[in-house]
Amino acid sequence: MSQISLDPENWAEFRQLAHRMVDQALDHVQSVDDRPAWQQMGGDVRARLSDSSIPWQGEGEAAVYEQFLADVQPYANGSTSPRHFGWVHGNGFPFAMMAELLASEMNAHLAGYDQAPAMVERQVVEWMRQIMGFPEGASGLLLSGGSMANFTALAVARNAQAPYDIREEGLRPLPRMMVYGATETHSWAKKSIEVLGLGRQSFRQIPVDEHYTMDIARLRGAIEEDIAIGRQPAVVIGTAGTVNTGATDDLNALADLCEERGLWFHVDGAFGALLAVSKNYRHVVAGMERADSLAFDLHKWMYLPFEIACLLVRDGAMHRAAFSQSASYLATLERGVAAGGFPFADLGLELTRGFKALKAWMSFKAYGLEKFGALIERNIQQAQFFADLIRKEPELELMADVPMNIVCFRYRDSRLTEDQLDVLNVEILLRLQEEGIAIPSSTTIDEHFAIRLCIVNHRTKEADLIAIVASIIMLAKRIKNGRTVS
Ligand SMILES: *Cc1c(COP(=O)(O)O)cnc(C)c1O
Repeated sequence: MSQISLDPENWAEFRQLAHRMVDQALDHVQSVDDRPAWQQMGGDVRARLSDSSIPWQGEGEAAVYEQFLADVQPYANGSTSPRHFGWVHGNGFPFAMMAELLASEMNAHLAGYDQAPAMVERQVVEWMRQIMGFPEGASGLLLSGGSMANFTALAVARNAQAPYDIREEGLRPLPRMMVYGATETHSWAKKSIEVLGLGRQSFRQIPVDEHYTMDIARLRGAIEEDIAIGRQPAVVIGTAGTVNTGATDDLNALADLCEERGLWFHVDGAFGALLAVSKNYRHVVAGMERADSLAFDLHKWMYLPFEIACLLVRDGAMHRAAFSQSASYLATLERGVAAGGFPFADLGLELTRGFKALKAWMSFKAYGLEKFGALIERNIQQAQFFADLIRKEPELELMADVPMNIVCFRYRDSRLTEDQLDVLNVEILLRLQEEGIAIPSSTTIDEHFAIRLCIVNHRTKEADLIAIVASIIMLAKRIKNGRTVS
């Protein structure tokens, strides 16, 4: 039989190509500030990337790499740019990029295996446990993103709160187990509640107050109402840093209520939980350490490249009890490669898991968590700086408080109606993006369109923020002169 494999046929040639790939990737990051924040794909690129013919025959590594440079690399969503402020996207950074290369080289399998990679993941989770103020005995797991981490937490919560063995029997229709969150709760909650079989009717979204945080009195009322009609209140979801405005629920009040009522307290801290890394702002998320479970991303406000998130569960045994299996092909022997078993697979849905811990471990050790805390604090100061620019500019107005790193605002013109203002602000946002000036995103605040700047960007400079204000005024003038607004 002829010998075939996927290793290079000519290592010397491949090594040259690989070095070129690394150098060009580094060049691309190093020059990010010189490029527009975003550029649109041309029709020819779109046509090549839509070609549905299967590549049965290979073109060679070098040829495909050239196509990557021409057709793929220039056309992402711009999250590496110092002027990207959309959604909640981190930037990534070069050292973590290199760590991903090393993790890929090792191709470690993280179902468990009690060797160095597992110890690296445990160490990262342990640092996070301490930073977030969870007790010893809490368990944790790295996951792909906040949605998966929150989903996994809700699965543990559902099982822990069911008054019968839900793993054995499945979900009983009665009594209906109720989950509570604010109207500002992120959309992972609905998706997860549906997938976990609880049904959308089991999710009560509690109105928020003028600071966009959950109205605790109304939460209490909803719980009383549900008990009175025979439902079973089970889980309260608090948010540390909402995606719309960066608001944080009163986590201590939610913890008190959950204790009093025997409810599971989950905190979605996708980006807000990372305030715990900052000495000056950790008080904002006080009470988070009392949660039964906490989910947060490391690819947002820790700037690591996608994907990586973390879940912590206060009662480690309950966490395992939701997922552990004893399949014969996974039986643990006391010695050999599989000694130590597959503990990570017992904490979530995934069996095969990659070594995403390495980029976090190497980066945290290289730069120190104090540096990450300083970057987080700087982003908050930048948001406050930007909010001040808006307050000083008569043609712009803030749409909501700026408690953290998110600024919702719009262009205003007293001669325009609310509808016309919506149309004008949509057009301003699209031109900011399409002309590659900057990438804010948008949201709806009190039924009005708002331009939304969310700063989880370690590359942003004050000059980038000043330039956005000037660009918006200029764009608004141009759009109004062009009569694009009907
Ligand atoms: C981003 C975000 C999520 C979802 O996290 P992903 O990493 O995108 O899956 C959940 N909740 C909040 C508050 C978020 O900002």
